[in-house]
Amino acid sequence: MNTVIGFDIGGTKIGIGVGDESGKILGMVSIPNVDTDPNDILPLMVSEAKRLCKEAHVEIADCPAFGISAPFPADALKGIMTEPPNNPKWRNVPVLDYLRSNLGIPGCFENDANCGALAEWFFGAGRNCRDFIYLTMSTGIGGGLICAGKLVRGGRALSAGELGHVCIQLDGRLCGCGQRGCYEAYCGGRALALRMREELKDKPESMIMQLAGNDPEKIDMIVLEKAVRAGDPYALALWDEMSLRNAQAFGIFINAFNPEKLVLGTMAWAIGDLYPAPILKQLPRFCWKEPREACQIVPSELKRQIGAYAGIAAAVNYLKEH
Ligand SMILES: [Zn+2]
Repeated sequence: MNTVIGFDIGGTKIGIGVGDESGKILGMVSIPNVDTDPNDILPLMVSEAKRLCKEAHVEIADCPAFGISAPFPADALKGIMTEPPNNPKWRNVPVLDYLRSNLGIPGCFENDANCGALAEWFFGAGRNCRDFIYLTMSTGIGGGLICAGKLVRGGRALSAGELGHVCIQLDGRLCGCGQRGCYEAYCGGRALALRMREELKDKPESMIMQLAGNDPEKIDMIVLEKAVRAGDPYALALWDEMSLRNAQAFGIFINAFNPEKLVLGTMAWAIGDLYPAPILKQLPRFCWKEPREACQIVPSELKRQIGAYAGIAAAVNYLKEH
């Protein structure tokens, strides 16, 4: 069985892992990535990967590939991190070329949502599916598409799977991407928090403000969930609207792709049944019965571990494609 190396480049930490194609992790380390300089971090990524391989008694030269999971914006074709929002010193860094020449093995570079989909496909809830969709459901909403047994990257912009930016409302709420009416502007964790802060900042008596200790900056999805469970009318109305918008987007994806599964990340597994239940109730309004009944909507199986598998899954997929 092949052993591969995975790099999961996040805004605050970088995970480096060595694992095999069955999903067995042979070694794993995490290095901080706050305010770092790529000139320091890239050599460290190489030396840590080499150390993990040595400890796992694997020769680097025997690893057929490595995979990089990276946040966008990036030049995915060339494997260059152009301007990751949380890492100001990382500008136009050719990560893929650097790792290729310093590890001496082939590798690939994928966006982190695609890697999430690949990780669930090989090692999690999407196992044995030929058609499935993974949605990150976190501060933003990212997506990864597996269609007919292949990761779909799209054409020149390589932007297939940007499901959070499907427009679901004409002239709707402003999204972080600059477009109006995006799905993410209604259901992304950051967008919902900003909306609550704006709507409640002058309402200290509201349950959400009280749960946040009267500090609008502390309003987030966790506070919203608590208020919903406590039956607060504002929170319930917002939850209903979020669920309706989620259903609208899921309906689009289900009719467009007829997936076997829709695998939901972060919020869905962290919140539990309160999250999908109202969406499922609304879903018949937004898609056909046949593809709806053919699609299982399930939480991520890898949950918090998904990052550990992201780069490894990208490498496994690289081997599958080459
Ligand atoms: Zn958008």
